[in-house]
Amino acid sequence: MAPAAVPVAAAASELTVSAMKADLAKSTKPQLDASKLTYTFNKHGGVVPALDDPIRREHNSSTDHMLTVKWTEKGGWEAPQLRPYGHLDIMPTASCIHYATQAFEGMKAYRGVDGKLRLFRPDLNCKRMNLSSTRIALPAIDPEQLEELVKNFVSVDCPKWLPDAETFIYLRPAVIASGAALGVQKPREATLFIIAVLFPPMEVLNGMRLLASKEDMGVRAWPGGHGWSKVGANYGPTLQAQGEARERGFDQILWLLGSEGRVTEAGASNFFVVWKNKNSGRLELITAPLGDKIILDGVTRRSVIELAKSRLSHNPTEVLKEVQHLEKLDVVEQSYTIDDIAEAYESGRLVEAFACGTAFFVAPISYIQHEVDKGIEVPMNTTTADGCKSGVYAAAIKTWLKEIMYGKVSHPWGVVINERGAQ
Ligand SMILES: *Cc1c(COP(=O)(O)O)cnc(C)c1O
Repeated sequence: MAPAAVPVAAAASELTVSAMKADLAKSTKPQLDASKLTYTFNKHGGVVPALDDPIRREHNSSTDHMLTVKWTEKGGWEAPQLRPYGHLDIMPTASCIHYATQAFEGMKAYRGVDGKLRLFRPDLNCKRMNLSSTRIALPAIDPEQLEELVKNFVSVDCPKWLPDAETFIYLRPAVIASGAALGVQKPREATLFIIAVLFPPMEVLNGMRLLASKEDMGVRAWPGGHGWSKVGANYGPTLQAQGEARERGFDQILWLLGSEGRVTEAGASNFFVVWKNKNSGRLELITAPLGDKIILDGVTRRSVIELAKSRLSHNPTEVLKEVQHLEKLDVVEQSYTIDDIAEAYESGRLVEAFACGTAFFVAPISYIQHEVDKGIEVPMNTTTADGCKSGVYAAAIKTWLKEIMYGKVSHPWGVVINERGAQ
């Protein structure tokens, strides 16, 4: 019998999904299993630097431990190991060093006002890690098992490394093709690891200044590409432009796409604008849509959209006193261009703008440079309790997210972690 016809025009997304399903279906191999985690504690742990120690600004101080899990095509997932922080053992021929066969996540653990340790919507990060890993030909990662591993890791290191209320530590789960084969091919070995990195406490005092990307800076993501996934390949090629922007006094690049200048993301953060719609005059919170797979499906982006719909829209499901005086808005996920923002600014319809993501949290925008001597001064009409200038909507959303992260309110997005420490 003739073999079944292979569908000719399968979309890239279908290919990726089918690859992931195929990987998961190889269930004869040992799967990722958090219950098999073994512990080797660090007997020579480091000293936790003070919150204002400049060493935190280097972003290279890690905690006492790391968690690693090896995968091979032949043997599946090995038992996860929690062990002293240190070098990874890979050969110079390893695929990840040459072909960007790498995917990662960015999460934070938070120490609440109640002294409890929390993660923020960790299930979403773990699902995304699975999508990113399979996008880059690395193994499928069972999101529930990964979440369990992240919880176990923070449960060991955070009692010591995250002692202060209302502070956070940055978590970096990553997966790399760690096998020694140099050939350009689907990796046969991988290493999944989780580390925690110290950040300085950060607040954006006067808003971020953005430089809109020009053609000669390249594009961050494109239709049919991989901008929707958190793979290392998306970031390296943007760093030259980012470095130049920093030298010229900007904080981030606002990445545009196409000759029409579609607004996508600001650095590695999602981007939101509040304006009055040109035609209807209605107040809108607008951000680029996920449908065309150009932007990252940010956990913070999702949370901003959900909170804005439930608390700031015309049909709120939660009515909060502190925002009753604010004009209600429509939440819109739609393509828009830099010229649309410039036009809104020039006609007095631009209300505010902010970037958001785990690393920079909710960062109000004060200025966008989009032509050599043409800039958009974005209004920032309030000052928050911590002394930062902001638009009122960004300020309200930031406060709500902080309340959840730091346990000022009980909310399903704030997941409390039991602490065991390093023993
Ligand atoms: C990580 C990231 C974000 C933010 O996502 P969160 O899940 O909110 O942290 C946004 N854009 C890009 C390109 C990113 O890499």
